Amino acid sequence: MPEFDKLPAGFAESLGELMRYDGCDKHLRAFDAADHYILSEAADAIEKAESVWIIGDNFGALSCGVLMQYRAAGLAFPDALARLKLVYSDSRAGAQAIKQNVCKALASQAVAAISVEHNAKNFGTYAAPDVVLARVPKNKTQLTFLLQQLKAVAAESTPIYLGGMDKHLSKGQFELLGKEFGAATYTRAKTKARVWIAKADLSLASSDLALKDYRHGTSELLFSSRPNSFSAGRLDRGAAFLLDNLERIPAMASVADLGCGNGVLGLSYAYFASFESLLLSDDSFQAVEACDANIALNASLLQEKSQKIRLSHSDALRDEPDKSLDLILCNPPFHTQNAVSRAVASRMFTQAGRLLVSGGELWVVANRHLQYHHHLRRNFAFCEQVNVSPQFVILRAVR
Ligand code: SAM
Repeated sequence: MPEFDKLPAGFAESLGELMRYDGCDKHLRAFDAADHYILSEAADAIEKAESVWIIGDNFGALSCGVLMQYRAAGLAFPDALARLKLVYSDSRAGAQAIKQNVCKALASQAVAAISVEHNAKNFGTYAAPDVVLARVPKNKTQLTFLLQQLKAVAAESTPIYLGGMDKHLSKGQFELLGKEFGAATYTRAKTKARVWIAKADLSLASSDLALKDYRHGTSELLFSSRPNSFSAGRLDRGAAFLLDNLERIPAMASVADLGCGNGVLGLSYAYFASFESLLLSDDSFQAVEACDANIALNASLLQEKSQKIRLSHSDALRDEPDKSLDLILCNPPFHTQNAVSRAVASRMFTQAGRLLVSGGELWVVANRHLQYHHHLRRNFAFCEQVNVSPQFVILRAVR
């Protein structure tokens, strides 16, 4: 790989082995040129560092690259791992991919050894970084939040190497780096990737994240969000369409909101219907955090129902027992990182089939063009369209 001449030896070959989580989305790679570029630009700083932090490693390419650089320099695996002080990801599936790929590329014992932090407010509990490697998150509020959390714990002039693919980077994101962390420079684009480099300037003030709470129509329920929770600061239009049809959804005993975001579907259902247990589950740590806050925010409306609600930070409810649910509400994602993908929605539907009792129902709201009824008709005994708008469709699938 001549463009990135400082990459650790053997890295390019090992990258070919990396996989997205559980081998799903096989047509999408688990790394890109931005990972190469960040590692190449930061190679000298990584070599000298005793404490490396990685923020937002997608599927483990950055973590693997840092560990391979130390291994190539003669460090034993535990010593290399000891220098990788913090790996942060908001995503549970992302964390699993990082562990799986580090294990695959480096050492089978790594899966137990490497841990991924999901809560950026815990950054202060780790040894401060000598260098930070990061992917630019798609979401600008999350970028602001992470830069603020980093600046709060980094020493003056700590360098950060932030990279991404050119098509996903904007002037606004670059300006945020200068405003929230420290004066930034950028490298020239290579193989359509770019790296921004900045040094912590502790004299900079942090701006207000200003996330607004919101409601659905005239509903009394109020929803707060987190920087990286889906639909932060406003109600998603697909979710609003399902909430407009809430009275059509049957009251059932054991209910889950799969991919719950801020909890708008599950908590609205909880307020409206009677149930025995409600599970709010999301792959995003911040989404689960937002749900926790929203249960408290609406405690006087939910009353004793709050006690029947459980939270789960998980990838598509994979740890829940078979046939344990009567009803699942789902507004599935159709992006994985920056790529449009039906893979997560398919995995959620497959999981729903496993989790529902016979006769149990999966209610899905989605963009019409995604045509999810094909998948649901193949995998469920029955699937019907409950309502449709110019943009969205509500589907009811029965197990
Ligand atoms: N239910 C919320 C609403 O209607 O506003 C959020 C819907 S949003 C379209 C999809 C949600 O699925 C996001 O909150 C996202 O974090 C979550 N998600 C993505 N991948 C997931 C996975 N593998 N397991 C569980 N949730 C996931």
